Amino acid sequence: MNADLLHSLVADGFVAITFAALIASLAAVFRHATLGGATMYALGHIGFTAGSSLFILLLTAGIPASQRPWLAWLALLASAFGSAAMVGGLAALLEHPLRHLIRWLCWAVATVIVSTALVPWPAVDPLKLASDLANSACVAGLAAVLLHAYPKPYRLPAWWAGVCAAALLPLYAIGSVQEWLGTGPVLVPHYVDWVWLDLALWSTFNLCVMMLASFRALTMFAQRARTDPLTGCLNRGGLQHEWEALSARLGANDPLSVMAIDIDHFKAINDHHGHAAGDAYLARFAGLLHSVVRHADLVVRMGGEEFLVVLHRAPRDVAERVAKDVVERTRDLAMDVGGVRVHTTASIGIAAGRGGDDMTDLIQQADRALYMAKTSGRDRVCVGGPTDARTGREPLSR
Ligand code: GH3
Ligand code: MG
Ligand code: MG
Repeated sequence: MNADLLHSLVADGFVAITFAALIASLAAVFRHATLGGATMYALGHIGFTAGSSLFILLLTAGIPASQRPWLAWLALLASAFGSAAMVGGLAALLEHPLRHLIRWLCWAVATVIVSTALVPWPAVDPLKLASDLANSACVAGLAAVLLHAYPKPYRLPAWWAGVCAAALLPLYAIGSVQEWLGTGPVLVPHYVDWVWLDLALWSTFNLCVMMLASFRALTMFAQRARTDPLTGCLNRGGLQHEWEALSARLGANDPLSVMAIDIDHFKAINDHHGHAAGDAYLARFAGLLHSVVRHADLVVRMGGEEFLVVLHRAPRDVAERVAKDVVERTRDLAMDVGGVRVHTTASIGIAAGRGGDDMTDLIQQADRALYMAKTSGRDRVCVGGPTDARTGREPLSR
């Protein structure tokens, strides 16, 4: 056994296992379907590295192709399906738009590659051919998934990892082609000569994947902290954060409206039908709010049965139209609880402002208008304005 080769395989194994363990622990801490992609990547990486290293060991043991033991098949299966898991897992982690297709394509490619080992190729060792194909397909697939326009902060580590994977491709592919053609160095000297580059590229690649998995985990953690679990709306923390982002996007003079919304006589739903029915109604009501606003508008649960909607680039008349729509749809929103129809209404106060206005001021104006809507009979919309300090004028009621 060539000592250099053994050292390089051990080093490769350490790199793979260390990064795989780190990535898998990150996924375990945050238990989430998307991070399941990280676990899949990590397990695939171990399978791929173990499979391809075992294959090299078997080749250097000098066993003729015709007498290869079942271990060679095991190594091939591990490297081919390990690569498929790596590519599919990474696509899931990064929520690549074609991730489902990519996953099925990976399993299909791995199956085709393993099948090539059953074909009696003239002058080529079929198992070696299949193993080389698996290595090249792995790095080509990783590069294809990573060299995609991901949003910040994923873009930079994804591109850098993609460049590393693309750089690994000639390392694997050219050597293999030369070997099949009988024109170049055989695999082992070739591998030992370039192992430093192979290790450097894989280590950098895995550091980038670690970074991507950490960004995913942190983003999801932050999202959870800003979201109300019952309704999926933003909570107060989320409002603060998203308001800042929204006002940064909007010009200081762009119109913006705030709707303060309160479900009428909600306590009666809890009292007559139970807290669980109340919870279900809140979730349905939040769904109604989401269905009437645009994607970039904010829907916030301020607490209990009180919600706030921020409509960007929406002047007073637009906000009024949306609010009236909500009031009408709430009248039609009925839930069946044990054969009984649960049904109520909603009151809304509107404050119209500009992108540069103070959030607290606008919310207070909307709250005053909501109070007017409640005191003037509920199930209606009132539009407010800043209280005129000179005349002490109250918000305008509709
Ligand atoms: P009004 O028309 O004046 O707004 O009357 P209301 O009954 O809607 O308002 P009130 O403030 O008297 O009662 C709000 C109720 O909302 C009381 C509270 O038990 C209930 N509530 C708050 N949070 C939740 C929740 O998460 N789930 C359920 N089921 N009920 C909640
Ligand atoms: Mg209420
Ligand atoms: Mg209330």
